[in-house]
Amino acid sequence: MPAFFQFDNTYVRDLPGCAVPWPPATVPAPNLLHFNRDLASELGLNPDLLDGPDGAAIFAGNQVPEGAEPVAQAYAGHQFGGFSPQLGDGRALLLGEVVDRLGRRRDLMLKGSGRTPFSRRGDGKAALGPMLREALLGEAMYALGLPTTRALAVVATGETVHRERPLPGAVLTRVAASHLRVGTFEYFRARRDTDRVRQLADYAIARHDPDLTGTEDPYLGVLRRVAQRQATLVAGWMNVGFIHGVLNTDNVALSGETLDYGPCAFLEAYDPDAVFSSIDHGGRYAYRNQPAVTRWNLARLAETLLPLIAGEDTEAAASRAVEQATKVIDTFPTWYEAALLSGQRAKLGLQGEAASDRALVEDWLTLLQEHRVDFTLGWRRLANAADGNEGALRALFTDPQAPGAWLARWRSRADSEGGAVADWSARAVRLRQVNPAVIPRNHRVEEALTAASDHGDLRPFQRLLAAVQRPYDEMAERAMYLEPAPATVTACYRTFCGT
Ligand code: AMP
Ligand code: MG
Repeated sequence: MPAFFQFDNTYVRDLPGCAVPWPPATVPAPNLLHFNRDLASELGLNPDLLDGPDGAAIFAGNQVPEGAEPVAQAYAGHQFGGFSPQLGDGRALLLGEVVDRLGRRRDLMLKGSGRTPFSRRGDGKAALGPMLREALLGEAMYALGLPTTRALAVVATGETVHRERPLPGAVLTRVAASHLRVGTFEYFRARRDTDRVRQLADYAIARHDPDLTGTEDPYLGVLRRVAQRQATLVAGWMNVGFIHGVLNTDNVALSGETLDYGPCAFLEAYDPDAVFSSIDHGGRYAYRNQPAVTRWNLARLAETLLPLIAGEDTEAAASRAVEQATKVIDTFPTWYEAALLSGQRAKLGLQGEAASDRALVEDWLTLLQEHRVDFTLGWRRLANAADGNEGALRALFTDPQAPGAWLARWRSRADSEGGAVADWSARAVRLRQVNPAVIPRNHRVEEALTAASDHGDLRPFQRLLAAVQRPYDEMAERAMYLEPAPATVTACYRTFCGT
């Protein structure tokens, strides 16, 4: 049998005691429903070898490929604000790591591969719908240029899993820059195991921020880097209207990738208070709360690093560490605001910076909110306006006159950077490169998953996947993916954790 992967498993090698070796469960009838050939090539794998029965067996967990060392990783987490000292991979296994074509180390993880020592009362399994959702949303996020884990494969298992109703089972293979989470650090901090927290931090630095090695204060440095990556990530989410839905500390990756597509959703009509998750009763993870809650999550990471930042075990060192870490956490909003505004300037087609830009954006968002304008289309049709057709944009508003004054302000601000006709056509081109036409609209996602899960029909999933992989192309045959759901549908839309 050929070697399918060149595994090099640093997590198990360098971090003894941070994971438990554990085999995947065997499933009755593996069927490879989705295989990402481009991603396989990027990882240096041979897509032809894996896009068939061998891939089905491997990505179902039935065959552990040569060099893989499957483990369940330990982690804890703050879930909706409350601390759970022991979560861990209850239905996932890290298979191993490969170094991709660009030299980047990537984790390969099976999700839905059976019970582990961390399963508690869960069955360790996953249903097909949520696994296809993760595959779809990950590719959409990737195409939108935001850091994310991605699905290499989804295999139907031939098993039935029991949720509110019986559902077809599946295993997803997730590719991630790493699975180090804030919760990984919390697990060992909760056990007062400072040595393991240090090993983890050293590992994280070697893997994600190797240039910090040997610097004066690498642990404070890594906190700063993680906070900066999260600032960029969350600003990116906000600018595409993404609501993660379950920003518990176990779902916050040190790499800065979007992790865990459970109850996530995209905004339709702009509403900063939007919440779609059925379990988020207090709106803790509402759209507008994402930056604040991320800052809160980063403070939990900071707490785990304090003994390392302090260096020595004295009161003076401890209080200095608190001061230094607090300063990083307090700077998060500044990094976030800067990333957000720079994204918004691009979304307005502006290249320079003016002091009035923030007010310009805020007034635009207020207009979108007051008139319940679809967030994605509102931004997208600025390109039409730049081309001289304001009608398409105005038609989104309950009162087409409403955006008139704002459009005049936008035009004169943009004209200050070049107001010639040629500049405006170039601006329209730029606007179409940053403001997507196609996002995974919630109702289209549900349609695709229902067809696959209830009727065994993968075609809607495949068509939607192809559409979200080219988010900036607006073509007549893609019209069904451009339009929002009827407002009555969105008002009732609820997402579930899919566990
Ligand atoms: P998640 O909601 O996917 O972020 O998972 C939160 C925690 O619940 C993690 O420790 C998971 O491993 C665990 N979990 C979720 N679903 C299952 C399941 N079906 N069986 C066992 N553990 C699960
Ligand atoms: Mg999770």
